[in-house]
Amino acid sequence: MAAAAHVLVLPWPLQGHINCMLHFATGLAGAGVHVTFLHTEYNLRRLARRAPSSADASPRLRFLSIPDGLPDDHPRSVDGLLELAASMLATATGEYRSLLSSLSSASDAVVVGFPPVTCVVADGLMAWAIDIAEELGVPALAFRTASACSFLAYLSVPELLESGELPFPAGGGGGGLDEPVRGVPGMEGFLRRRDLPIQCRRRGDAMLRTLVDLTVHSRKARALILNTAASLEHAALAHIAARMRDVFAIGPLHAMHPTPSGSLWREDDGCMAWLDAQADRSVVYVSLGSLAVISHEQLAEFLSGLVAAGYPFLWVLRPDSMVAASQNQDNATPQEAIRAAAGNNKARIVAWAPQRDVLRHRAVGCFLTHAGWNSTLEGLVEGVPMVCWPFFADQQINSRFVGAVWRNGMDMKDVCERDVVERTVREAMESDEIRRSAEALAQQVKRDIAAGGSSATEFQRLVGFIRELSTSSATSGVN
Ligand code: UDP
Repeated sequence: MAAAAHVLVLPWPLQGHINCMLHFATGLAGAGVHVTFLHTEYNLRRLARRAPSSADASPRLRFLSIPDGLPDDHPRSVDGLLELAASMLATATGEYRSLLSSLSSASDAVVVGFPPVTCVVADGLMAWAIDIAEELGVPALAFRTASACSFLAYLSVPELLESGELPFPAGGGGGGLDEPVRGVPGMEGFLRRRDLPIQCRRRGDAMLRTLVDLTVHSRKARALILNTAASLEHAALAHIAARMRDVFAIGPLHAMHPTPSGSLWREDDGCMAWLDAQADRSVVYVSLGSLAVISHEQLAEFLSGLVAAGYPFLWVLRPDSMVAASQNQDNATPQEAIRAAAGNNKARIVAWAPQRDVLRHRAVGCFLTHAGWNSTLEGLVEGVPMVCWPFFADQQINSRFVGAVWRNGMDMKDVCERDVVERTVREAMESDEIRRSAEALAQQVKRDIAAGGSSATEFQRLVGFIRELSTSSATSGVN
């Protein structure tokens, strides 16, 4: 008889990573696998304050935590990420090692009713979690929460360096970014320099090296899990599969395994009543995710383009949305500036929205997004036309896929100019062609996640793989 499978799921402690790994964990628990979801103490406290009941999602899913080593007031948006990574390495690794060692031992008495941990699924950005698990004899799988196309782009960086595609020619102040890139398999013909990870624009960027190393490291894991669907990223997945031990494309997870919200911020539901009062497909929903920050200059430029486009809008402006060092000339808060420019009736501002409900609302006509992968998938599943204003990580390449491959929206590139904002928002709101593509894409992805579809089938294969691992670790006496 197969040993009971128990997976320790460890997300990188940021909203986008937590959300999709939580959907994954819920799906596993639903398939009869025990799951321990490991938050940082800081995030678990935030979640408990915001939604105390989220811990009761399933009797097979429990939440534990380890410290991230930082004080609560440390910024955890894009400004504090390097410190977070360093602190996790210094503090969390030791805690994780002893927790895993205890949870994977048969004599574990930490929580009654859960079998020993038989497998770890760690965010691929936490290579140490994969290494430590294997050292302890617990098989580890890597989960990358970004798109397959961006994973492949990172994977291709060493060859791009070798072939001379990278680094970009010096000088030019960003010139040449629209030049094509050769050497990312399957993307010849539409990939431009500007679509590669933004660190490629800086010669010898240490962060690029780190991200490439982490991507290559995923090859060491027993398998790679991606939150995507074969019909969306077929070519990229095939090229990745050729270089990995095994690959599972099991998304979009939020649509396959819906969970109660895992929001770290309190969701402002009041915006739903505001949407109820708006006409069908009349509203632009603006959200730049959980990390991106903008300067007051960008806010002014973007705002004037958005107002000129002439549609009512719902804008998510987190308390930490503004670049800390950027100065506002006339002392108005961003909220005051937005209300003054748009008028109270045309603009609704929230600090955090119930995004999936918003995107599903009949009043939303277009999603102005930073093209984070979760947001991209959420907009895509609802068939909402998108305008993409990418900032970093996989956002540039996701934007390119939206604009040039899937054609369910417009790629505004990472330059924010009022005329461009006005024009692209109008086009996304009015174009029948974009809407038709967006709706067709949504239908296609819904087929992937329905019973018998590629993602649903891959998810079942993954559950089988995980059960198989638990049997082999039991027979090899690891536990
Ligand atoms: N999100 C939300 N409410 C908001 C803004 C964002 O619930 O007001 C969620 C969104 O649904 C998505 C996640 O936050 O699941 C953001 O992840 P994404 O990968 O899009 O971007 P990141 O925050 O990692 O840049």
